[in-house]
Amino acid sequence: MLVNSKEIVLKELLDRYIPQLHMKCTCRVCKNDVLALSLNRAEPAYVTDKKKVAYAKAEMVDKQKNTALLVILAESAAIVSVNPSEFCETREGA
Ligand SMILES: [Zn+2]
Repeated sequence: MLVNSKEIVLKELLDRYIPQLHMKCTCRVCKNDVLALSLNRAEPAYVTDKKKVAYAKAEMVDKQKNTALLVILAESAAIVSVNPSEFCETREGA
């Protein structure tokens, strides 16, 4: 098993902080776009077993480590809000 633990952590942070990100649209497509942008910008942290994923998740309670990821999420959310994907489910005139 090979997993980018950042993917799991960023997913959790996105779900937890979505009200604070003030996204124009929070459909499945826009949320995935924010996640993809964020993952491209965050340093990947691959792990090879489930225990290490659990450890990475446990580290999320460490607010200092989260701050950098939350900044990345906020910046990505702003980009997607300004420029939503053509596949956005609520995009007008699509
Ligand atoms: Zn959308």
